[in-house]
Amino acid sequence: MFQNRHPWIFSGAIRSVQGDPADGDIVTLRGESGVFLARGYWNHHSQINVHALTWDEHETIDDAFWATRLERAIAARSVENALHKSGSPNAYRLVNAENDAIPGLVVDRYADWLVVQALTKGIDQRKATLARLLMERLEPAGIYERSDVEVRSKEGLTQATGVLLGQEPPALVEIEENGRRFLVDVHAGHKTGFYLDQRENRDLFGAWMRDDKSVAERTVLNCFSYSGGFSVYALGAAAQVTSIDASADALALAQRNIAANGFDAAKSELVEGDVFEVLREYRTAKRQFDVVILDPPKFANNQRQIEAAARGYKDINLLAFQLIKPGGTLITFSCSGLVDAHLFQQIVFGALVDSHRDGQIVRRLTAAADHPVALTFPEGMYLKGLWCRVW
Ligand code: SAH
Repeated sequence: MFQNRHPWIFSGAIRSVQGDPADGDIVTLRGESGVFLARGYWNHHSQINVHALTWDEHETIDDAFWATRLERAIAARSVENALHKSGSPNAYRLVNAENDAIPGLVVDRYADWLVVQALTKGIDQRKATLARLLMERLEPAGIYERSDVEVRSKEGLTQATGVLLGQEPPALVEIEENGRRFLVDVHAGHKTGFYLDQRENRDLFGAWMRDDKSVAERTVLNCFSYSGGFSVYALGAAAQVTSIDASADALALAQRNIAANGFDAAKSELVEGDVFEVLREYRTAKRQFDVVILDPPKFANNQRQIEAAARGYKDINLLAFQLIKPGGTLITFSCSGLVDAHLFQQIVFGALVDSHRDGQIVRRLTAAADHPVALTFPEGMYLKGLWCRVW
């Protein structure tokens, strides 16, 4: 287990504790022979007793350590952004927690602002230091904390939001993504405000909508649309875009984002409702679309929920197949890490067969490059998508 360098050390792997470490303290893990294994931060509250920070005995965990780790993550984004075809985005994930060798810390950039999530005690305790190091290196206008996430309870932490350093961000921060403008609610929006992980997929989708003229005047159904990400990319190249979301706030922001990009509101239909129900109504009404996008929230939070999640995915994918015109396109995602790519493909296959349609996978999709997956941390691989042509 330790040989695999997985950063989570569970309580069952620890035979004894010497001394009396306080939660958040740096501890050293040793094998029975006394051999050094790892160093990380401790928390007796969590089943993950230790989050490993280094496997190198000579590496001490001090300010210089955190600075080096942050610099590594920041440098990787500079390279990725330079490679980005459609110019440098000004909103992206700067630090992807375990996957950037900083367990428990998420940092997202939105234009001049950084938004931070401290998911563990070890990070929560050091968030002032980490904010100072980020401020010194990146000089944002402000660093805002969005640690209002359920996982903190497993660490014995309550939720926390507010300014960590610098100024308070405005109610809506404007970002630019692949030439589109989006307003982001960093105070109360989902995650840290925007689904940054879908940036490259939205870009691919937008380029395809613009360039593939094999179908004129496409109609697009964007299910689980949130603040209108995929809808904004579809508008301008589509005859009609229907966006469905259960959240009225998300749809209100979608409407503003559509207007901010200069699109005709008459081509955009915003529907507040439950996708499971609305798709059934469309099926009964025999409504058909050229393109259907399914980007639902996480359906499986633990092993026990996998079966119900699979039924949920099957249901919406079956409905989607039934609503797609022959020769149309389904772009379907799952962000449940516990439903792996293989299982997800099987579910979509089952839905296809039940719909009596035929289909091909044209592309496999994943999270954007600013959401790297550490090879030692397969849990980091959560978003997968299938871009399918449907006959
Ligand atoms: N594709 C979006 C992100 C989608 S996030 C983007 O690119 O930004 C998932 C969205 O699903 C959230 O906005 C949430 O409000 C919505 N949602 C969750 N359950 C739903 C349901 N049963 N019906 C409709 N919307 C739902």
